[in-house]
Amino acid sequence: AAKHAGRGRAEVFDDAASRRSLDRLQLRSDLAFASARGELAVHYQPIVELSSSRIIGFEALCRWHHPVRGLVPPDEFIPLAEETGAITAIGEWVLGQACRQLAGWRRLLSGERLGISVNLSPVQLHQADAAARTLKVIEESGADPADVWLETTEHSAIRIDVNEFATTLRAAGVHFALDDFGISYSSLSHLKRLPVESVKIDRSFVAGLPDTATDRGIVRAVLAIAESLSLTVVAEGIETPEQHADLVALGCQLGQGYLFSRPVPPDEATALLLAGVPQPSAA
Ligand code: C2E
Ligand code: MG
Ligand code: MG
Ligand code: MG
Repeated sequence: AAKHAGRGRAEVFDDAASRRSLDRLQLRSDLAFASARGELAVHYQPIVELSSSRIIGFEALCRWHHPVRGLVPPDEFIPLAEETGAITAIGEWVLGQACRQLAGWRRLLSGERLGISVNLSPVQLHQADAAARTLKVIEESGADPADVWLETTEHSAIRIDVNEFATTLRAAGVHFALDDFGISYSSLSHLKRLPVESVKIDRSFVAGLPDTATDRGIVRAVLAIAESLSLTVVAEGIETPEQHADLVALGCQLGQGYLFSRPVPPDEATALLLAGVPQPSAA
């Protein structure tokens, strides 16, 4: 498009574009040191039983506190980390932190069950020994592998090596969930190919509840598929009491969203665990 805009405009465009790529380059190199400088953190978002709002687990979500830019969102730095390969170390670090935190929470709860969900990047599977490394991180953390849920996205599931990885971890008791379910055309075929026990309904569909007919239809269809395959369903991005009530009416059992809690630092998550999430009024 810049080509047709005349010389002056093309230069402005190029300036902005090169500033953006310089920016990304800078961020990439900063990312290489982020972990060693202690700039990364893990926040936790409660996953609740929708009928009672009782916390049944947490999703671990990585945060980067950049010394100059402040908080860089994962949607910006995870793709960069995937490009550079830094995601392997970051992903293992997040998994270790989350599993140690879970072990601590279970001691606090005198052994009461609690789940931890950790996102897994497809790039982490590039290493030949990915399964062994991942298992080692979990086992050394003191967490019970049966409490650990690895969330994979649909595009990562396309990789052929996923199956062997998943089979090995599944044999050790680790569970798999398909994240952002429904946004890819190939959603259904992955259910057939992966040892998945749970699907997470993408928040773009939850956003349309209760009034948008297509979104509601998709949510109903996902629930029906999940029921016939004996999968649990977690609805993501629940923001309003109306969405919560509608999901309960549709028979969805688990969910997470700002209505219950945003992702919070470990201490706040512990407080939520002990006190419970605030009860939404309308549901
Ligand atoms: P995700 O795994 O689908 O995580 C859910 C995202 O939805 C989180 O965004 C969470 O903060 C956000 N969310 C939860 N409830 C609500 C809500 O009610 N409304 C809205 N608008 N958003 C809500 P976050 O933390 O920014 O993470 C974005 C994505 O980055 C994650 O999506 C995941 O794909 C990726 N990510 C985050 N941490 C990690 C990590 O440690 N490893 C990998 N590989 N990816 C990660
Ligand atoms: Mg996730
Ligand atoms: Mg998701
Ligand atoms: Mg996502």
